[in-house]
Amino acid sequence: MKLTSTDLITVDPVIRPVFLQKDITVKALRLDKCDPIISGNKWFKLRYHLEEAIKTNKKSICTFGGPWSNHLVATAAACKKLGIRSTGYVRGEEPNPLSHTLETAAALGMELHFVPRNLYALQKLDKSTNPANYTIPEGGFGHMGAKGAATITQYFNEEEFSHVIAAVGTGTMLAGLAQSLKHAALIGITVLKGKEALEKAVKKLLSEDSCAWTMLEGYEWGGYAKHPANLLEYMNQLFNSTQIPTDIVYTAKLFYAVEQLASKDYFKKGSRLLLIHSGGLQGNQSLEKGKLCFPTPTA
Ligand SMILES: *Cc1c(COP(=O)(O)O)cnc(C)c1O
Repeated sequence: MKLTSTDLITVDPVIRPVFLQKDITVKALRLDKCDPIISGNKWFKLRYHLEEAIKTNKKSICTFGGPWSNHLVATAAACKKLGIRSTGYVRGEEPNPLSHTLETAAALGMELHFVPRNLYALQKLDKSTNPANYTIPEGGFGHMGAKGAATITQYFNEEEFSHVIAAVGTGTMLAGLAQSLKHAALIGITVLKGKEALEKAVKKLLSEDSCAWTMLEGYEWGGYAKHPANLLEYMNQLFNSTQIPTDIVYTAKLFYAVEQLASKDYFKKGSRLLLIHSGGLQGNQSLEKGKLCFPTPTA
């Protein structure tokens, strides 16, 4: 039997209560449970790309990302399962040693090419015009990725929630959620600076009739992938009280932001929040051993 992209999900995401605070309820959609490496939202963002690559008989998929990109390693893992070659163009000079993420991607069979920052944009254009490859845009950004992310909502009943809250990287997942939610207020928490640019990116992927959404900033902890000691402390404390592991780049910042907002009475009494746990746990491999009280998944 030939695998299709829908065979890749191994565990259905489950919804778990997180914490009760000031008359609001908080639940998490555990997309991190889908697969340890094709984790969380990345599988959803990839699904239609993978289907298209299979349908058009492409032998190879190429894509782009930074040295810690969950998107690159998820693409590598998905391609391996589907028996398609994968090539990753990595922004910047080859690090020595390789990041854990890139090591994992390479172990999964991804061919890695390092592209100096000043040539990166050009290289992206060049690869996208090669008809032998199926090209997925950097970080999985784009309409096809958003269309896949829109299917995340099939795993919960929207009627149960007043708010749906997710972390924002490229904004593709937020755009997908905005396309498919009907009533719930949608909030994106930015994990990197530059809210205006991120809002623009999301708008580019949306039509007029998508649901209302808001982006909130101020929870970046210094910037993309920055993880001061008190963020790690928070992750350990969250795990001890909820048994939910989070990642340093996206989901820890999401959960923390929601706790902060709740404590400042941002949410009305009786609000029912759904946090999208978008996965990314493999990224914790970059930490020194022993910093976190829960294990990091590996390929
Ligand atoms: C990539 C990623 C995001 C951000 O998704 P975008 O579609 O790029 O906004 C959020 N959480 C995790 C764990 C991710 O890996």
